[in-house]
Amino acid sequence: MDQEQLTKAVDKRRTFAIISHPDAGKTTITEQLLLFGGVVRTAGTVKAKKSGNFAKSDWMEIEKKRGISVTSSVMQFDYAGKRVNILDTPGHEDFSEDTYRTLMAVDSAVMVIDSAKGIEPQTKKLFQVCRMRGIPIFTFINKLDRDGREPLDLTAELEEVLGIESYPMNWPIGMGKGLEGLYDIYNNRIELYRSEGEGQEFLELDENGEIKGDSPLKEESIYRQVLDEIDLIKGAGSEFDKEKIANGELTPVFFGSALTNFGVKTFLDAYLQFAPKPAEHKVEDDKQLAPDDEAFSGFIFKIQANMNPNHRDRIAFVRICSGEFDRGMDVFLERTGKKLRLSNSTQFMADTRETLETAVAGDIIGLYDTGNFQIGDSIYTGKKPIKFEKLPQFTPELFMRVQAKNVMKQKSFHKGINQLVQEGAVQLYQSYSTGEYILGAVGQLQFEVFKFRMMNEYNSEVEMTPMGRKIARWINPEQLDEKMSSSRNLLVKDRADQPLFLFENEFAERWFKDKYPDVELTAKL
Ligand code: GDP
Repeated sequence: MDQEQLTKAVDKRRTFAIISHPDAGKTTITEQLLLFGGVVRTAGTVKAKKSGNFAKSDWMEIEKKRGISVTSSVMQFDYAGKRVNILDTPGHEDFSEDTYRTLMAVDSAVMVIDSAKGIEPQTKKLFQVCRMRGIPIFTFINKLDRDGREPLDLTAELEEVLGIESYPMNWPIGMGKGLEGLYDIYNNRIELYRSEGEGQEFLELDENGEIKGDSPLKEESIYRQVLDEIDLIKGAGSEFDKEKIANGELTPVFFGSALTNFGVKTFLDAYLQFAPKPAEHKVEDDKQLAPDDEAFSGFIFKIQANMNPNHRDRIAFVRICSGEFDRGMDVFLERTGKKLRLSNSTQFMADTRETLETAVAGDIIGLYDTGNFQIGDSIYTGKKPIKFEKLPQFTPELFMRVQAKNVMKQKSFHKGINQLVQEGAVQLYQSYSTGEYILGAVGQLQFEVFKFRMMNEYNSEVEMTPMGRKIARWINPEQLDEKMSSSRNLLVKDRADQPLFLFENEFAERWFKDKYPDVELTAKL
């Protein structure tokens, strides 16, 4: 590719993740998006991962057991002149630090909310990561075909619970059985409700928002109410502001029903108009690296181990930040300065793993890894080393005491634990008073993977004792007095020897703050 081709190819990319609480409809909407993208798949492929209907032999054992798949981690399709990359953010019991880290690799996010439930805990956590990054967030309020909460109530919640301004791009006319359509504020038209399979049908509006010609709507009173609500929003709500959207300060809100494929296309069309192309990335010395820079570069945001003992390889997921990737190219690994040949790469599609030939900034590639890579590593070509900013640490919430089952096998235990912790599989802490090892994670799956890999890769059987949920808060070492620790706020140190307390619950944290008002406690994120 010459420079012009590269710039053009990069500008076409739109890379995002869908964030939601389990059951809000992320899978359903992803399927609809893939269908619009013309990705030919057997119906229900994304779905099938939940029922475990897969028979491919080389998948990780835990993957198979849980029905999650590497291949659904990244989905790519072309639509309306854009190349769309959707990154999966696993939820349920598969929620892990990787879920958070995936959000480091996208340029925008789509937040799916169940109209009956509003904002749920996992949505909130994932939202906060997006917020910290300042990336655009688009909201899709789902399940309009069912009775849900009042639209005004739902948009108010965005502001109150998440602290983000919102701008409704459209507004439901009715709900549940009474759903008649969407008042499309942005396009100034009405989209009539159609059941799945039928195309879109629009009604034109005059400058007062009145339907031109005869109205096919059944409930005139509901339509009047919609017009009143829209007046209210236009008067008292936030204005449409591209800059605020770009900075993640205002979220455009779309309503719809993923299941009946209503409002999804409208959402996708508008989304692709405003979703950002691959962003510049900050590199050391505070410089910005343009995505169409001719040097290839990227960082590793996730490493997925192969659980099959016969295949020790892992897949390192790379977000390409600049330039073009070609199979077989040589790159430098910034951490070690070593040169590596990237001959074994893979692209991810909904149902196949395809060998990838080229990719550009904005794309995600998977590299077969035999142990060269760590999470957060930068790789690059060219004479000048490129190092991306460190990935943030996320505060673990679940904890386990861990020790080697066989005390004679300390060596393999330590080797395994060190490597897995370095890889970012789990966090490791050590108790101040007893020296015991404690593992921290944001999701239960991380512990299971840890245990499995300790056995399979390091021949170390571990004994783990659940400690349950804790609130981890770091403390300034200068303010620390070991006497502050009690059974309800266990004092531990992290891998960098920084002290932190593991509080039993919020009450214990509050009690501590009251007792030591001058002590600063910080969460990582
Ligand atoms: P995920 O856990 O967020 O991936 O959620 P799914 O896409 O698996 O959806 C959870 C459940 O909600 C499934 O039973 C879906 O069929 C259902 N669902 C998803 N979207 C809609 C919708 O628009 N309307 C209704 N009525 N059900 C939906």
